[in-house]
Amino acid sequence: MIDVVVIGAGMAGLGAADELRRSGRSVVVVETGPVVGGLARAIRVEGEPVEPYYHHIFPQDRETRALIERLGLADRLEWRRGPMAVMHNGRTFAFDSPLDLLRFAPLSPFDRLRAGVATGVQLVRPDRHRLDRIPVSVEGPRWFGQRAYDTLWRPLLEAKFGPHADRIAMAWLVARIRQRGGSRGATGDRLGYLQGSLGALAEAYAARLASDGVELRLSTRVRELRQTPDGWQVDVDGPDGLDRLTAPIVIACVSGPVLQSIATLPPPYASAMQQVPYRGIVCALLELSRPLSSYYWVNVTDRLGLGCVGIIEHTNLVPTDRYGGRTLVYLAHYVAREDPTWSAAPEELVDAVIPAMQTLNARFSRDWIVDVHVNRDAFAQPVPRVGGPMPGLPIETGLPGLFHASLAHVYPDDRGVSKALGLGKRAALAAEAHFARVG
Ligand SMILES: Cc1cc2nc3c(=O)[nH]c(=O)nc-3n(C[C@H](O)[C@H](O)[C@H](O)COP(=O)(O)OP(=O)(O)OC[C@H]3O[C@@H](n4cnc5c(N)ncnc54)[C@H](O)[C@@H]3O)c2cc1C
Repeated sequence: MIDVVVIGAGMAGLGAADELRRSGRSVVVVETGPVVGGLARAIRVEGEPVEPYYHHIFPQDRETRALIERLGLADRLEWRRGPMAVMHNGRTFAFDSPLDLLRFAPLSPFDRLRAGVATGVQLVRPDRHRLDRIPVSVEGPRWFGQRAYDTLWRPLLEAKFGPHADRIAMAWLVARIRQRGGSRGATGDRLGYLQGSLGALAEAYAARLASDGVELRLSTRVRELRQTPDGWQVDVDGPDGLDRLTAPIVIACVSGPVLQSIATLPPPYASAMQQVPYRGIVCALLELSRPLSSYYWVNVTDRLGLGCVGIIEHTNLVPTDRYGGRTLVYLAHYVAREDPTWSAAPEELVDAVIPAMQTLNARFSRDWIVDVHVNRDAFAQPVPRVGGPMPGLPIETGLPGLFHASLAHVYPDDRGVSKALGLGKRAALAAEAHFARVG
């Protein structure tokens, strides 16, 4: 007999299964993809596992660090400087520390000082909850100053959230600033990277769970969830064809739109899900024959084509010898699935960023590109809109025994592996409370 079906073997799903198994529950995890890890899965480049999307670990990512420790991988966690920069009007400026903001020539000395003080205030301001109701387009210019907001923040918000950029809740932006602030030491960002990738962490976690008795069904999609007098009927489609699982509890560790496509939700929860739009991601991972720049992360404030958020040179965080001497560069484009970019060809994705790459390195030429790996995920970023339902979004769906743990549930924090692991555990505890209630 199955106690709980967990949908999705991303980090939230694995975290939920872990907690339930520790409580002695029998758990089946159903994952549509061929591998575990979800957005943090691994692909292979030159035989080495690497994330399909840029990933690093912040020092304050407690859940991720604890899991790495528990799985005996602590000697593979490395802390490295990830130099950052801002590209503005065709020039690149180092942007690692508050001092770099004070040196940022495109803004006047007064504007820089004001933006610096305002950033410091965001790290400590006590009124975070009020900020759920205030859009960045109002609160941002008020604090940072219109010019600093337009130069530094607005382009990034537009690249990430497209038409929703003006309506993003200030609480989300403040949480991002705090996340960055927490990792910033006197010498600049100190970021963690797990040698072998976070995908390898997910794989090691799944192997541990399997040896503890959790059943993992990969390449198996949940098609439909139906309520029964005893709980839930879960129809799945896997390598051996259609199958039906039954369990008193289901924890859906998938986005709202996916949950809505497989279950009929009660109107309040369904309406909340409808009010959380998602941005998809299309990311080109370039293998280059030589280094592009000395920066790990370059935010490009000059508008790039196709919604590209910036240029992330992974091999300025992690040495190139891991990847046979290749330089790895991510070009991430956030888009709506209706947008033509969603199905753009690899060349188009790269073309949109070539001028910025040439600004970064005047000698850059196309023949440096040895290979391009394009990955897509439809539900990569929920949009934390002001007035939306994300603040306090419940794990309980309103249907007995159906729990939901998605990227939208960690608001005001931005998504993250550590948050997903913690959220999965929270959902498992909610499930345990349900077991305790119904006996
Ligand atoms: C570009 C980018 C950069 C990021 N950078 C970082 C970073 O630097 N550091 C960090 O900590 N985090 C980062 N993240 C965030 C991090 O990857 C996610 O927050 C985390 O992996 C989410 O885990 P999850 O389990 O909640 O969701 P997901 O990873 O989305 O997992 C959901 C799972 O459900 C499966 N699924 C969907 N539908 C079905 C179905 N019908 N049946 C069965 N299975 C289904 C999916 O295949 C997937 O495996 C980044 C994300 C992106 C997109």
